[in-house]
Amino acid sequence: MIAAAETPIRRLVIIGVGLIGGSLARALRDAGAVQEVIGVARSAATGEKAIALGVIDRFVDDPRSVVEDASVVVIATPVGSFAGVLEAIAPHLNAATVVTDVGSVKQYVVDTARRCLGANFRRFVPGHPIAGTERSGVQASVSDLFRDRHVVLTPVAATEPMALRLVTHMWESTGADVLEMDVTEHDLLLAATSHLPHVIAYALVHCLARHPDRGRLFELAAGGFYDFTRIASSDPIMWRDICLTNKEPLLQALNTFQTQLDAMVEAIGEQRGEQLESWFKEAKLARDAGLDSKRDKRN
Ligand code: NAP
Repeated sequence: MIAAAETPIRRLVIIGVGLIGGSLARALRDAGAVQEVIGVARSAATGEKAIALGVIDRFVDDPRSVVEDASVVVIATPVGSFAGVLEAIAPHLNAATVVTDVGSVKQYVVDTARRCLGANFRRFVPGHPIAGTERSGVQASVSDLFRDRHVVLTPVAATEPMALRLVTHMWESTGADVLEMDVTEHDLLLAATSHLPHVIAYALVHCLARHPDRGRLFELAAGGFYDFTRIASSDPIMWRDICLTNKEPLLQALNTFQTQLDAMVEAIGEQRGEQLESWFKEAKLARDAGLDSKRDKRN
Protein backbone atom coordinates (compact mmCIF):
# COMPACT_ATOMS: atom_id res chain seq x y z
CA MET A 1 0.00 0.00 0.00
CA ILE A 2 1.22 3.50 -0.80
CA ALA A 3 1.21 5.71 2.32
CA ALA A 4 -1.70 8.13 2.67
CA ALA A 5 -0.76 11.45 1.12
CA GLU A 6 -1.11 13.45 4.36
CA THR A 7 1.36 11.45 6.50
CA PRO A 8 5.07 12.33 6.29
CA ILE A 9 7.09 10.34 3.79
CA ARG A 10 8.81 7.62 5.84
CA ARG A 11 11.93 7.15 3.74
CA LEU A 12 12.85 9.45 0.88
CA VAL A 13 15.71 8.47 -1.40
CA ILE A 14 17.17 11.28 -3.52
CA ILE A 15 19.37 10.14 -6.37
CA GLY A 16 21.57 13.15 -7.23
CA VAL A 17 21.87 15.50 -4.25
CA GLY A 18 22.50 18.72 -6.17
CA LEU A 19 20.67 22.03 -6.47
CA ILE A 20 17.24 20.54 -7.11
CA GLY A 21 17.51 17.27 -5.14
CA GLY A 22 19.12 19.09 -2.20
CA SER A 23 16.55 21.90 -2.23
CA LEU A 24 13.69 19.39 -2.27
CA ALA A 25 15.18 17.53 0.71
CA ARG A 26 15.66 20.79 2.63
CA ALA A 27 12.11 21.99 1.92
CA LEU A 28 10.53 18.69 2.95
CA ARG A 29 12.59 18.53 6.14
CA ASP A 30 11.65 22.10 7.04
CA ALA A 31 7.98 21.27 6.48
CA GLY A 32 8.19 18.11 8.61
CA ALA A 33 6.99 16.21 5.55
CA VAL A 34 9.65 13.49 5.66
CA GLN A 35 11.08 11.22 8.35
CA GLU A 36 14.34 10.05 6.79
CA VAL A 37 16.28 11.30 3.75
CA ILE A 38 18.90 9.11 2.13
CA GLY A 39 21.03 10.63 -0.61
CA VAL A 40 22.60 8.68 -3.44
CA ALA A 41 25.86 10.41 -4.36
CA ARG A 42 28.41 9.19 -6.85
CA SER A 43 31.17 10.94 -4.89
CA ALA A 44 31.76 10.77 -1.15
CA ALA A 45 32.61 14.49 -1.21
CA THR A 46 29.05 15.37 -2.31
CA GLY A 47 27.48 12.96 0.20
CA GLU A 48 29.56 14.27 3.09
CA LYS A 49 28.85 17.89 2.14
CA ALA A 50 25.11 17.13 2.02
CA ILE A 51 25.22 15.60 5.52
CA ALA A 52 27.27 18.51 6.87
CA LEU A 53 24.73 20.97 5.43
CA GLY A 54 21.89 19.05 7.09
CA VAL A 55 20.31 18.16 3.75
CA ILE A 56 20.31 14.37 4.15
CA ASP A 57 20.63 11.88 7.03
CA ARG A 58 23.08 9.56 5.28
CA PHE A 59 24.27 8.62 1.82
CA VAL A 60 25.15 5.59 -0.26
CA ASP A 61 26.91 5.40 -3.61
CA ASP A 62 24.69 2.68 -5.02
CA PRO A 63 20.92 3.23 -5.13
CA ARG A 64 20.18 -0.50 -5.31
CA SER A 65 20.83 -0.97 -1.60
CA VAL A 66 18.28 1.61 -0.45
CA VAL A 67 15.39 1.77 -2.93
CA GLU A 68 13.93 -1.52 -1.72
CA ASP A 69 12.73 0.03 1.51
CA ALA A 70 11.98 3.52 0.15
CA SER A 71 8.58 5.18 0.23
CA VAL A 72 9.54 7.69 -2.49
CA VAL A 73 12.55 7.74 -4.82
CA VAL A 74 13.35 11.05 -6.56
CA ILE A 75 15.70 11.03 -9.55
CA ALA A 76 17.51 14.38 -9.66
CA THR A 77 20.54 13.73 -11.86
CA PRO A 78 21.04 15.13 -15.41
CA VAL A 79 18.49 13.62 -17.81
CA GLY A 80 21.14 11.76 -19.82
CA SER A 81 21.86 9.56 -16.80
CA PHE A 82 18.22 8.56 -16.21
CA ALA A 83 18.29 5.33 -18.25
CA GLY A 84 21.25 3.99 -16.26
CA VAL A 85 19.66 4.99 -12.96
CA LEU A 86 16.25 3.50 -13.82
CA GLU A 87 17.78 0.27 -15.11
CA ALA A 88 19.81 -0.07 -11.91
CA ILE A 89 16.90 0.47 -9.51
CA ALA A 90 14.10 -1.32 -11.41
CA PRO A 91 14.72 -4.87 -10.11
CA HIS A 92 15.02 -3.63 -6.51
CA LEU A 93 11.84 -1.56 -6.14
CA ASN A 94 9.13 -2.93 -3.88
CA ALA A 95 5.48 -2.99 -4.87
CA ALA A 96 4.66 0.22 -2.96
CA THR A 97 7.57 2.51 -3.78
CA VAL A 98 6.69 5.62 -5.75
CA VAL A 99 9.35 6.87 -8.17
CA THR A 100 9.40 10.40 -9.50
CA ASP A 101 11.86 12.72 -11.22
CA VAL A 102 12.69 16.40 -11.65
CA GLY A 103 14.01 16.27 -15.21
CA SER A 104 13.50 19.29 -17.45
CA VAL A 105 12.16 17.24 -20.39
CA LYS A 106 9.29 14.84 -20.10
CA GLN A 107 8.58 12.72 -23.21
CA TYR A 108 12.07 11.25 -23.20
CA VAL A 109 11.82 10.58 -19.45
CA VAL A 110 8.38 8.94 -19.74
CA ASP A 111 9.56 6.71 -22.61
CA THR A 112 12.72 5.76 -20.71
CA ALA A 113 10.85 5.03 -17.48
CA ARG A 114 8.24 2.94 -19.32
CA ARG A 115 11.02 0.89 -20.93
CA CYS A 116 13.10 0.43 -17.77
CA LEU A 117 10.53 0.08 -14.99
CA GLY A 118 8.16 -2.58 -16.40
CA ALA A 119 5.25 -3.15 -13.99
CA ASN A 120 6.60 -0.47 -11.64
CA PHE A 121 5.98 2.19 -14.30
CA ARG A 122 2.46 2.57 -12.81
CA ARG A 123 4.02 4.18 -9.78
CA PHE A 124 6.31 6.50 -11.74
CA VAL A 125 5.15 10.13 -11.64
CA PRO A 126 6.98 12.38 -14.12
CA GLY A 127 7.67 15.82 -12.64
CA HIS A 128 9.46 19.08 -13.34
CA PRO A 129 9.83 21.95 -10.87
CA ILE A 130 9.86 25.23 -12.79
CA ALA A 131 12.42 26.72 -10.45
CA GLY A 132 16.16 26.80 -10.32
CA THR A 133 19.20 28.96 -10.69
CA GLU A 134 22.34 28.93 -12.79
CA ARG A 135 24.22 27.51 -9.79
CA SER A 136 24.61 23.80 -9.21
CA GLY A 137 25.57 21.35 -6.52
CA VAL A 138 24.25 20.74 -3.02
CA GLN A 139 26.01 23.86 -1.72
CA ALA A 140 23.61 25.90 -3.87
CA SER A 141 20.49 24.21 -2.46
CA VAL A 142 17.98 26.26 -0.47
CA SER A 143 14.77 25.30 1.31
CA ASP A 144 12.54 27.94 -0.33
CA LEU A 145 13.52 27.31 -3.97
CA PHE A 146 10.06 25.97 -4.83
CA ARG A 147 7.93 28.32 -2.71
CA ASP A 148 5.25 29.95 -4.95
CA ARG A 149 6.78 28.30 -8.02
CA HIS A 150 5.06 25.94 -10.38
CA VAL A 151 5.81 22.24 -10.37
CA VAL A 152 4.50 20.47 -13.47
CA LEU A 153 3.49 16.81 -13.23
CA THR A 154 2.82 14.96 -16.50
CA PRO A 155 1.04 11.75 -15.47
CA VAL A 156 0.08 9.32 -18.22
CA ALA A 157 -2.89 6.94 -18.48
CA ALA A 158 -1.01 4.21 -16.60
CA THR A 159 -0.06 6.41 -13.61
CA GLU A 160 -1.68 5.21 -10.36
CA PRO A 161 -3.85 7.95 -8.80
CA MET A 162 -2.40 7.20 -5.31
CA ALA A 163 1.14 7.71 -6.61
CA LEU A 164 0.10 10.97 -8.26
CA ARG A 165 -1.56 12.17 -5.03
CA LEU A 166 1.54 11.36 -3.00
CA VAL A 167 3.89 13.24 -5.34
CA THR A 168 1.44 16.17 -5.59
CA HIS A 169 1.33 16.37 -1.78
CA MET A 170 5.12 16.11 -1.59
CA TRP A 171 5.56 19.16 -3.82
CA GLU A 172 2.73 21.09 -2.14
CA SER A 173 4.60 20.60 1.15
CA THR A 174 7.47 22.63 -0.34
CA GLY A 175 5.13 25.59 -0.96
CA ALA A 176 4.91 24.92 -4.71
CA ASP A 177 1.86 25.25 -6.90
CA VAL A 178 1.36 21.88 -8.62
CA LEU A 179 -0.03 21.74 -12.17
CA GLU A 180 -0.81 18.71 -14.30
CA MET A 181 0.02 18.93 -17.97
CA ASP A 182 0.16 16.75 -21.04
CA VAL A 183 3.70 15.49 -21.77
CA THR A 184 3.82 16.90 -25.32
CA GLU A 185 2.50 20.27 -24.21
CA HIS A 186 5.12 20.43 -21.46
CA ASP A 187 8.00 19.78 -23.86
CA LEU A 188 6.77 22.33 -26.42
CA LEU A 189 6.19 25.06 -23.84
CA LEU A 190 9.46 24.48 -22.00
CA ALA A 191 11.39 24.32 -25.27
CA ALA A 192 10.11 27.83 -26.05
CA THR A 193 10.40 29.42 -22.62
CA SER A 194 13.44 27.73 -21.11
CA HIS A 195 15.45 25.55 -23.50
CA LEU A 196 15.52 28.13 -26.34
CA PRO A 197 16.71 31.01 -24.09
CA HIS A 198 19.47 28.82 -22.68
CA VAL A 199 20.70 27.92 -26.18
CA ILE A 200 20.58 31.59 -27.22
CA ALA A 201 22.49 32.70 -24.10
CA TYR A 202 25.14 30.02 -24.61
CA ALA A 203 25.42 30.93 -28.33
CA LEU A 204 25.81 34.64 -27.62
CA VAL A 205 28.47 34.20 -24.94
CA HIS A 206 30.25 31.60 -27.05
CA CYS A 207 30.36 34.08 -29.96
CA LEU A 208 31.97 36.73 -27.76
CA ALA A 209 34.31 34.20 -26.15
CA ARG A 210 35.82 33.54 -29.58
CA HIS A 211 36.29 37.21 -30.36
CA PRO A 212 39.97 38.19 -30.73
CA ASP A 213 39.45 41.05 -28.25
CA ARG A 214 37.41 39.00 -25.77
CA GLY A 215 39.16 40.41 -22.69
CA ARG A 216 38.08 43.96 -23.45
CA LEU A 217 34.64 42.83 -24.59
CA PHE A 218 33.83 41.12 -21.30
CA GLU A 219 35.35 43.97 -19.33
CA LEU A 220 33.22 46.55 -21.13
CA ALA A 221 30.03 44.47 -21.05
CA ALA A 222 27.45 46.16 -18.86
CA GLY A 223 24.83 44.84 -16.44
CA GLY A 224 22.37 44.23 -19.25
CA PHE A 225 24.73 41.76 -20.89
CA TYR A 226 25.25 39.85 -17.65
CA ASP A 227 21.48 39.91 -16.87
CA PHE A 228 20.68 38.53 -20.30
CA THR A 229 23.36 35.84 -20.21
CA ARG A 230 23.09 34.77 -16.53
CA ILE A 231 21.76 31.38 -17.59
CA ALA A 232 24.87 30.71 -19.72
CA SER A 233 26.59 29.99 -16.38
CA SER A 234 24.34 26.92 -15.94
CA ASP A 235 25.75 23.42 -15.86
CA PRO A 236 26.89 22.43 -19.41
CA ILE A 237 26.20 18.70 -18.95
CA MET A 238 22.67 19.28 -17.75
CA TRP A 239 21.97 21.54 -20.74
CA ARG A 240 23.64 19.21 -23.23
CA ASP A 241 21.28 16.47 -22.04
CA ILE A 242 18.21 18.71 -22.24
CA CYS A 243 19.04 19.76 -25.82
CA LEU A 244 19.62 16.18 -26.95
CA THR A 245 16.51 14.73 -25.31
CA ASN A 246 14.06 17.47 -26.32
CA LYS A 247 15.33 17.60 -29.89
CA GLU A 248 12.17 18.13 -31.99
CA PRO A 249 10.41 20.73 -29.79
CA LEU A 250 13.70 22.61 -29.37
CA LEU A 251 14.44 22.59 -33.11
CA GLN A 252 10.92 23.90 -33.72
CA ALA A 253 11.47 26.75 -31.24
CA LEU A 254 14.91 27.51 -32.71
CA ASN A 255 13.49 27.66 -36.24
CA THR A 256 10.78 30.08 -35.18
CA PHE A 257 13.38 32.23 -33.44
CA GLN A 258 15.72 32.10 -36.44
CA THR A 259 12.92 33.32 -38.71
CA GLN A 260 12.31 36.30 -36.41
CA LEU A 261 16.05 37.00 -36.17
CA ASP A 262 16.40 36.87 -39.98
CA ALA A 263 13.50 39.32 -40.31
CA MET A 264 15.18 41.67 -37.84
CA VAL A 265 18.51 41.43 -39.69
CA GLU A 266 16.68 42.35 -42.91
CA ALA A 267 14.81 45.24 -41.29
CA ILE A 268 18.04 46.68 -39.84
CA GLY A 269 19.78 46.30 -43.22
CA GLU A 270 16.91 48.05 -44.99
CA GLN A 271 16.68 50.72 -42.25
CA ARG A 272 12.98 49.96 -41.58
CA GLY A 273 12.79 51.74 -38.21
CA GLU A 274 9.00 51.61 -37.95
CA GLN A 275 9.03 47.86 -38.29
CA LEU A 276 11.73 47.47 -35.63
CA GLU A 277 9.95 49.81 -33.26
CA SER A 278 6.70 47.90 -33.68
CA TRP A 279 8.38 44.54 -32.90
CA PHE A 280 10.17 46.01 -29.89
CA LYS A 281 6.91 47.56 -28.61
CA GLU A 282 5.07 44.28 -29.00
CA ALA A 283 7.87 42.43 -27.17
CA LYS A 284 7.99 44.98 -24.34
CA LEU A 285 4.21 44.85 -23.85
CA ALA A 286 4.21 41.04 -23.77
CA ARG A 287 7.09 40.86 -21.28
CA ASP A 288 5.65 43.55 -18.98
CA ALA A 289 2.22 41.88 -19.02
CA GLY A 290 3.73 38.46 -18.26
CA LEU A 291 5.64 39.85 -15.28
CA ASP A 292 2.60 41.79 -14.00
CA SER A 293 0.42 38.72 -14.11
CA LYS A 294 3.04 36.70 -12.19
CA ARG A 295 3.25 39.45 -9.54
CA ASP A 296 -0.57 39.59 -9.22
CA LYS A 297 -0.78 35.83 -8.72
CA ARG A 298 1.87 35.96 -5.98
CA ASN A 299 0.21 38.83 -4.08
P1 NAP B 1 23.18 19.65 -10.07
O1 NAP B 1 23.11 20.70 -9.05
O2 NAP B 1 24.38 19.56 -10.95
O3 NAP B 1 22.95 18.25 -9.36
C1 NAP B 1 22.99 17.04 -10.04
C2 NAP B 1 23.41 15.94 -9.08
O4 NAP B 1 23.45 14.72 -9.80
C3 NAP B 1 24.79 16.14 -8.46
O5 NAP B 1 24.72 15.78 -7.11
C4 NAP B 1 25.69 15.18 -9.25
O6 NAP B 1 26.71 14.58 -8.50
C5 NAP B 1 24.71 14.08 -9.64
N1 NAP B 1 25.09 13.48 -10.91
C6 NAP B 1 25.50 14.12 -12.02
N2 NAP B 1 25.70 13.24 -13.02
C7 NAP B 1 25.45 12.03 -12.51
C8 NAP B 1 25.50 10.73 -13.05
N3 NAP B 1 25.86 10.51 -14.32
N4 NAP B 1 25.18 9.70 -12.22
C9 NAP B 1 24.83 9.93 -10.93
N5 NAP B 1 24.75 11.15 -10.37
C10 NAP B 1 25.06 12.17 -11.16
O7 NAP B 1 21.94 19.72 -11.08
P2 NAP B 1 20.46 20.25 -10.80
O8 NAP B 1 20.39 21.66 -11.24
O9 NAP B 1 20.04 19.86 -9.43
O10 NAP B 1 19.66 19.41 -11.90
C11 NAP B 1 19.24 18.09 -11.63
C12 NAP B 1 18.03 17.76 -12.49
O11 NAP B 1 17.02 18.75 -12.28
C13 NAP B 1 18.31 17.73 -13.99
O12 NAP B 1 17.68 16.62 -14.56
C14 NAP B 1 17.68 19.01 -14.51
O13 NAP B 1 17.20 18.86 -15.81
C15 NAP B 1 16.56 19.23 -13.51
N6 NAP B 1 16.17 20.63 -13.29
C16 NAP B 1 17.13 21.59 -13.12
C17 NAP B 1 16.74 22.91 -12.90
C18 NAP B 1 17.77 24.00 -12.71
O14 NAP B 1 17.45 25.18 -12.91
N7 NAP B 1 18.97 23.71 -12.32
C19 NAP B 1 15.38 23.23 -12.82
C20 NAP B 1 14.44 22.22 -12.96
C21 NAP B 1 14.84 20.92 -13.19
P3 NAP B 1 28.07 15.33 -8.13
O15 NAP B 1 27.73 16.19 -6.95
O16 NAP B 1 28.98 14.22 -7.80
O17 NAP B 1 28.46 16.11 -9.36
